[in-house]
Amino acid sequence: MIQVKIKREICIACGSCYSVCPEVYEGDDEGKAKIVAKYLKEQSDEYSIGEVDTELEKCARDGAESCAVEAIEVS
Ligand code: SF4
Repeated sequence: MIQVKIKREICIACGSCYSVCPEVYEGDDEGKAKIVAKYLKEQSDEYSIGEVDTELEKCARDGAESCAVEAIEVS
């Protein structure tokens, strides 16, 4: 498993990550990114943290790299 952390405080709701990798990311009611329910471990206004299947690592990283404000960390 890999850990994916979205810093929702700095997310500008551009939609890029969840259009690049909808298997891992989705938008909430305001368009801010969160981890999809299947992988979600922790959620608040500040963070959305998930543990994602290793086979989705490239998808998760591509989504993170698409984020203009570098709000997503994959480890
Ligand atoms: S790409 Fe970045 S700024 Fe855009 S919705 Fe995703 S986390 Fe938010």
